[in-house]
Parts: sequence; C-alpha cells; structure tokens
Amino acid sequence: MSIDSFEGIHTPICDRCYAELDGEFEFHTAVEAKKDAGWKSRKVNDRWQDVCDNCLAEEAEKMTLKDKAFADILKDVRGR
Ligand SMILES: [Zn+2]
Repeated sequence: MSIDSFEGIHTPICDRCYAELDGEFEFHTAVEAKKDAGWKSRKVNDRWQDVCDNCLAEEAEKMTLKDKAFADILKDVRGR
C-alpha cells in the first residue's frame, strides 16, 4: 500500500492515519511528493509503511513522553 493507484492517478496515503496527499499522474512523482511532504517509508514486520509528517511528529512526542516517564521511574528508584 501506501501509494494508491487508481485510473492512472497515484495517491500517497499514510498507513497510520490514512491522510492523503494530492494524486499524481506519475508514480515517481507521487513518491517525490511524499518525500517533499516529509513523509517516511519504513519497514514494519516485513511490510513497507508510509507515515505522514503529522504521525511522525506525534510518534516523536510519545517517545519523548516515554523517555520522561522512564526518567521519573529511575529517579524514584534512586530516591529510595
Ligand atoms: Zn499519518
């Protein structure tokens, strides 16, 4: 998935939130459009996933929160 091809129009779709970019007439233009928009392709469980810039930002934020939670736990343990 990730680029939906229908009747000669190739539309990049985020595999996480299903956001779409504008459809392109050429497949490679659609790939370029993804890159320009800051999307990332990555392999998850042997399948390629396209993730939009919004989802990437969201994930980065969650990651930071997790790190913070972990740091708090460490602090607790050391405080005892
Ligand atoms: Zn998304």
